[in-house]
Amino acid sequence: MKSMTREAKAKINLTLDVTGKRPNGYHTVKMVMQTVALHDDVTVALNEDGGFYLKNNLPYLPCDDRNLAMRAAKLFYEVTGAPNAGTRIEITKRIPVAAGLAGGSTDAAAVLCALDTLHDRRLGVERLCEIGVKLGADVPYCIRGGTMLAQGIGEELTALPPMPRCFVVLCKPPFSVSTAGVYAEMNGGNVSPRPDTAGMLRALADADYAGICHRLYNVMEPVTGGHHPEIADIRSTLLSCGADGAVMSGSGPTTYGLFCARETAETAYETLKKAFPDTHLTEICD
Ligand code: ATP
Repeated sequence: MKSMTREAKAKINLTLDVTGKRPNGYHTVKMVMQTVALHDDVTVALNEDGGFYLKNNLPYLPCDDRNLAMRAAKLFYEVTGAPNAGTRIEITKRIPVAAGLAGGSTDAAAVLCALDTLHDRRLGVERLCEIGVKLGADVPYCIRGGTMLAQGIGEELTALPPMPRCFVVLCKPPFSVSTAGVYAEMNGGNVSPRPDTAGMLRALADADYAGICHRLYNVMEPVTGGHHPEIADIRSTLLSCGADGAVMSGSGPTTYGLFCARETAETAYETLKKAFPDTHLTEICD
């Protein structure tokens, strides 16, 4: 049985701005996205019986078509017409779920890339992204990874200079947030204040780590944070433990801090882990 395992990495938002709402109801965004090393392991195997199977290590995460990885596999065959060998997917989840870290999107991206390789289709990144966006706006970013400006509904990607390497402490408090619910409170993108996206792009171009930390901002943080005071508590703990900057990722509730020194990051990790078990120490990567 042909199979391969891919690391499906999580993303964080350095900035997140909601710029408007289209007549079809989709919001437009402008955000700087960054890959981190925290990842799920996604094993994809072709199997001869033609069936689609998925298993994962979390009892509450669905294994049927509600799982984006399963939908990715079926879509791959639908649009490429590859001979349907059937697919077995096994996911070891480490990325917190419904957390603002694109966990489902990155698993879906990993399945598309794995099937492309296993079937030797060589579709190329552009085509894989066209397929991926049908599954979700964050999937094209997860296919590309790295440091990117995402616009449109999140699928218009521009590569940015790589972010200076640093440590990241991610903390997910024990509740989940509905992304649709947060968008519903965004007033169609008529929000203030907004992130200094242009300043963030300059800071990245200059590899100005302090400038990056200074400009971390997410317009969704006041909304999600308004319902959940834990987000402000986590951010203050990160900063008081020595984070160089801290902000919520995506629609939340995961809140992260950036650290240039490993020891400081470890202290923050140990401190937050006591109150919030779903805390992770990771780093920026491609
Ligand atoms: P984003 O940052 O793209 O908004 P998220 O990190 O907030 O995503 P996910 O972890 O992708 O959220 O989970 C959102 C929903 O998707 C959950 O309710 C979950 O049940 C569902 N889901 C489907 N497939 C997966 C998967 N493979 N991994 C995680 N969640 C999945």
